[in-house]
Amino acid sequence: MFLYVWFFILGAVIGSFFQVCKDRLPLGLDIVKGRSFCFDCLHPLQWFDLIPIVSYVMLKGRCRYCHHRISLFYPIFEMMSGFLLVLLVYYESQVIKAILLFLLIMDFITISLIDRQWQIIPDEMIILEIFIVSGLMPYSDVSLWEHLIGILIISMPLLLLNFWIPDSFGGGDIKLLMVNGFMLGYIKIILAFTIAVLLGGIYASYLLFYKKTHRHHHIAFAGFLCVGILISLFFGEYILYFYSYLFI
Ligand SMILES: [Zn+2]
Repeated sequence: MFLYVWFFILGAVIGSFFQVCKDRLPLGLDIVKGRSFCFDCLHPLQWFDLIPIVSYVMLKGRCRYCHHRISLFYPIFEMMSGFLLVLLVYYESQVIKAILLFLLIMDFITISLIDRQWQIIPDEMIILEIFIVSGLMPYSDVSLWEHLIGILIISMPLLLLNFWIPDSFGGGDIKLLMVNGFMLGYIKIILAFTIAVLLGGIYASYLLFYKKTHRHHHIAFAGFLCVGILISLFFGEYILYFYSYLFI
């Protein structure tokens, strides 16, 4: 029990770090150097203003200096991060693997949130994922060749498509497909991409049908891609098994 409390705190602290990435990277600010500051009054924050969840409750959700409301998003995000790590450690017998999967999901959530707001995927988040994926490699059960083919099997056609129809897919999406193609291997990245296109297609049809957007408007694809990758990573085996059972 005590161990899970510790993992909850660790998860919340890491969640708080990813919030910093989400707020600072799109603005070109450094995520390691440079003190945190209130985004409203720009007053630098002390360490005791930055304790996940606790500071929000102590300050009653307002900035200590300008009393501007702090979004409820922050403590909720930190709490969910804590619970997510506890959940993964509980279900995954290897603690190191659980922590790496946690970092992967947090990286994806951050990428999705940034892409939704700014239509970019910062390279820093992709580089961070390369480290996470390297750590996950010993747990992989597909061959090196499958990993290597995975890098190019989706990203290459999309890159070619971009020459044909410029900006049909963002550069960030393609980099994401390369890294995760390596992580998943070529079969599961095809599955991940298929799920992402289906989900993105349903969402785009919904927007067009209710006239919330027009045909040439870009939708942020990274979120769908991340969901597709996670479904393929965690349930790919079952989906492919059922698929082969039904059609072959
Ligand atoms: Zn303030």
